[in-house]
Amino acid sequence: MSTNQIEEIKGKVNIVDVIAEHVQLKRAGRNLKGICPFHSEKTPSFMVSPELQIFKCFGCSAGGDVYKFIMEFEKIDFPDALKILADRAGVKLEPLRGFPEVQHKDEIYRANYLIAEFYHYILTSHRIGEKALNYLQRRGVKEESVKLFKLGYAPDSSDVTFRFLTVKRGYKPEVLEKAGVIVKRDGRYFDRFRGRVIFPLNDHFGNVLGFSGRILEQKGDLAKYINSPETAVYKKGKILYGLEITKQEIKKEGFAVVVEGELDAISSYQAGVKNVVAIKGSALTEDQARLLSRFCQSIHLALDSDLAGNEAARRGAEVAQKVNLGVKVILLGDYKDPDEMAKHDPEAWGKTVKEAIGVYDFLIQAVFEKFNSTTAEGKANISRALTPMLAKIEDEIVKAHYVKLVAAKLGVSEEAVLVQSDKHGTKNYSTFNRSLEVEKENHKTRREVFEEYFLALILQSNPKQLVEAESIIQTPLAKRVTSEVLKWIQEKPFNSSVFAAQLPAELVDFFASLLLLDTETLLVSDSINKEIDNTKRELEILGIKEKMEELTKRIRLLETEGKVEESAVLQEELTQATKKLSTFG
Ligand code: ZN
Repeated sequence: MSTNQIEEIKGKVNIVDVIAEHVQLKRAGRNLKGICPFHSEKTPSFMVSPELQIFKCFGCSAGGDVYKFIMEFEKIDFPDALKILADRAGVKLEPLRGFPEVQHKDEIYRANYLIAEFYHYILTSHRIGEKALNYLQRRGVKEESVKLFKLGYAPDSSDVTFRFLTVKRGYKPEVLEKAGVIVKRDGRYFDRFRGRVIFPLNDHFGNVLGFSGRILEQKGDLAKYINSPETAVYKKGKILYGLEITKQEIKKEGFAVVVEGELDAISSYQAGVKNVVAIKGSALTEDQARLLSRFCQSIHLALDSDLAGNEAARRGAEVAQKVNLGVKVILLGDYKDPDEMAKHDPEAWGKTVKEAIGVYDFLIQAVFEKFNSTTAEGKANISRALTPMLAKIEDEIVKAHYVKLVAAKLGVSEEAVLVQSDKHGTKNYSTFNRSLEVEKENHKTRREVFEEYFLALILQSNPKQLVEAESIIQTPLAKRVTSEVLKWIQEKPFNSSVFAAQLPAELVDFFASLLLLDTETLLVSDSINKEIDNTKRELEILGIKEKMEELTKRIRLLETEGKVEESAVLQEELTQATKKLSTFG
């Protein structure tokens, strides 16, 4: 792997295109801006520079080049980001020396892909698979779905898969063991999946991470489902079944229907509700919620309609609000699960998905159904069940809404409900608090703010104007960038990307932030030149005020020391400064 290839790939992909697939970007002068995917915000402070091919968030200070974006966004390492961008750029990567774990992962992906093909072939084209295909048909799985989700069948034999892959395909047993499809026992290799319908578990790029196998009929004490063990590529609780296929629909609809099992997802898809994923279990994990939040703003949970379902909904709501996902609950009525409902009454399924109710409404309703709200004891039970949940609602407005609702239903004051819920959540870490903290971290002096804005205006319009402005720039970083720019424009025309490339490393970030600052939104005057003049004026006024402050301090000190003459000199200076300030009107 050479650095050449890294640069070559970077040159072939446009950071704007890559980011635009995940973040809605709007033009903002020379840059583009959008809502930051890395922290929660309502007004955009996430900027992308086509010239510098970098991004930067002014809210949480995330920033970097296209590799950095992919790494942070997909939560992956550099080699994986490199692979994604290489594929995109159509660059064939040289072997990744120095990244053994990547080679290892790649081996597993390749083996898994082949295994998926093998099982799919057995199911669809081999005599051995007939029974399984019939079974799927009986369960209402259509032929298109078998193909689309690449379902397969693992033969009911101890080592058919093992022999096929080693003898016919030349795979080493160790690789297959690492991929989790082969188990070694007493020095012999056995197939993990036997006599099971196979659901390949893919990530949202389409890499096969592992498999889930379902038995055709209950016999003995065999588990209904078995999954691949955790491997270098398969991690439990991270995968969202179907996402690779349904992600576009999810983006389009703005929400994802979250179901438990593979067959729930497939049946929903067949019934026309295609924006669906399965979490493979009853509890949505934070990783899954975060992954979903890249594709949509909210999720509709369709979980079993029993008590466990309520608990799952409550946990789902907690997890989802951490990543700013809205949560609704789909009511299944008398149906056991989405699979049954979508198959039996596709129309009703589509309708109930659309009519999903807010998760808190759902939970409150469930608690009120469980206890008698007219007795003191019932009220106490309801309060005990609901107040911890209310305490955890991060959005204060949403919280106020539900406090009011619960109070009205209980026939008590809102204050009583609030007091109870506050007992549970004194340390409620709201989004608002978080944004305040970010501001505190980024605290800058008034001069720094003004100088940065001033420099941003000039650099984004006409760097030559810096010549006249040099004298009023005082803060160290701004001064250094100014002198670098001035040196440059004496010799050649200003080109921001070439300029940035030769800047000392410690200045690059600062320069980038100047070029990325969204001056258009901040603009008060009707033209950029007027804004530059006004800002320059502000800085001059600021300079005089700072000087006056300094003089006043020194005069006071001299007076306490009884140095009258020296004090008088400074007094005169102060008078001059005051006069000068008055000329600014
Ligand atoms: Zn941010």
